[in-house]
Amino acid sequence: MKAMVLNKITQVTENKRPLEKTEFPEPEPKNGQILIKVSTCAVCHTELDEIEGRTPPPKLPIIPGHQVVGYVEATGPGTRNFQPGDRVGVAWIYSSCGRCRYCLRGEENLCPDFKATGRDAHGGYAEFMVVPEDFAYTIPELFSDAEAAPLLCAGAIGYRSMRLCNLKDGQRLGLTGFGASGHLVLKMASYRYPKTDIYVFARNPQEREFARKLGAVWAGDTADEAPEKLDAIIDTTPVWKPVVEALKNLTPGGRLVINAIRKEDVDQEYLLSLDYPTHLWMEKEIKSVANVTRSNVQEFLALAAEMKIKPEHQEYSLDEANQALVELKEGKIRGAKVLTME
Ligand SMILES: [Zn+2]
Ligand SMILES: [Zn+2]
Repeated sequence: MKAMVLNKITQVTENKRPLEKTEFPEPEPKNGQILIKVSTCAVCHTELDEIEGRTPPPKLPIIPGHQVVGYVEATGPGTRNFQPGDRVGVAWIYSSCGRCRYCLRGEENLCPDFKATGRDAHGGYAEFMVVPEDFAYTIPELFSDAEAAPLLCAGAIGYRSMRLCNLKDGQRLGLTGFGASGHLVLKMASYRYPKTDIYVFARNPQEREFARKLGAVWAGDTADEAPEKLDAIIDTTPVWKPVVEALKNLTPGGRLVINAIRKEDVDQEYLLSLDYPTHLWMEKEIKSVANVTRSNVQEFLALAAEMKIKPEHQEYSLDEANQALVELKEGKIRGAKVLTME
């Protein structure tokens, strides 16, 4: 089968072709697994973290991609949930142990044996992939394959980060960074919390305009001071400046939720401008978001169908995966990037 493969850790600013087009053996579904013929796979910033070594795959080569929509091609021994031809989705959570104290209390995202799709197991930048059937989801009919793919990461993790805000309807919400996840959170939050005003911080004027179009009451630059203090802010950027700047915009007792698997170190010195009374005092909190659970994915897909969320997206062929990744690295973002197989 055709696959776009990561063979070595590399920096995308220097190497514009981080993935290699490769003929790869088609996987076979083992016990409890299904084989999926991939139709679409969305491109995520976390792929850059894998490629550039901030969250390196434990083994190379690896096929990245963790927002996969496809059709069941074959089922392995002991499976019962799906039939060949069924449409399914795969998200960032590829598997967890099911036995540890985190798994047992519904926090499988924190499992020490958490395996991520496209990092710890081959993902969807390929014609086929296998996944444990318990970690595959039925996709609501409303969505096309290309519309559904970005929902599986940006949407599901955005949903988790929104939940972690502990927001009450009518409280003010900020979003710093306005890529795929940010714009989905804006739509979700305005649906879930209709009395809540949403403020967006983004360095790119086009993103700010896009945010206002989607209903933000205010949109400013990353370091701007919002006209009001905000009860919660979600950071979806890969860097540090937005973290420091968001803290100054929080109300006393407000919470900053950092939705990033890793931060780049390009502007780490910005943290030295952290001023305790301005940024942290008055019981401000910082909470990170780690991974997703299956129930986050399921709840989010149901919510997205109820709201008829159709993510803005741009399509690329599998061969153009490198181009999509380079554009993502360079910040050329308007909605989500989706690879389509044929
Ligand atoms: Zn992702
Ligand atoms: Zn576990």
